Amino acid sequence: MGKPKIATVWLEGCAGCHMSFLDLDEVLIDILHQVELTVSPVTDYKDYCFPKVDLGIIEGGIGNEEQLEIVRHLRRQAKIIMTWGDCAVFGGINTLRNWIPKTEVLERGYVTSESTVNGVVPIHAEIPRLLDQVIAVNHVIAVDVYIPGCPPDPEVIAYSLTEILNGRLPVLPGEMIHFD
Ligand code: SF4
Repeated sequence: MGKPKIATVWLEGCAGCHMSFLDLDEVLIDILHQVELTVSPVTDYKDYCFPKVDLGIIEGGIGNEEQLEIVRHLRRQAKIIMTWGDCAVFGGINTLRNWIPKTEVLERGYVTSESTVNGVVPIHAEIPRLLDQVIAVNHVIAVDVYIPGCPPDPEVIAYSLTEILNGRLPVLPGEMIHFD
């Protein structure tokens, strides 16, 4: 039997959750010896065409139509879905725009910001359309494991991955889900 396959995706987030994954340092090497990392920003994979995987990991909330498609596709391909970080778990800081109409958000970003000259809101078939609001991953697909935090502590990531590699869905102890 081959190694368990993992895919990770970076949606509407800052990449901090993936940085926390890299912060596992030498533990990361142990984990990577035990798995096959397939589609991931870490492998510089740019086409989200997922193979069948044992674990799909999602960083970031869902703020546009492309991200909706990515999570639906990953859900179909992954036995277990884990959400990493507050953006994926709750929507996170991205939801600050949810109180503002989408047209105003786009105008502010592309036209009226202080550093913009002759700006226009870009419209192109290859630019994914924004959703009206940013939503958490579990608003769209079933999620099996939630790892909150901004970013999640590397120790919590290591614990949850180790539990999954040992055939258990991780249940985070209390001390892992609050700050001291
Ligand atoms: S949860 Fe925090 S660290 Fe992770 S993507 Fe969101 S803002 Fe970045």
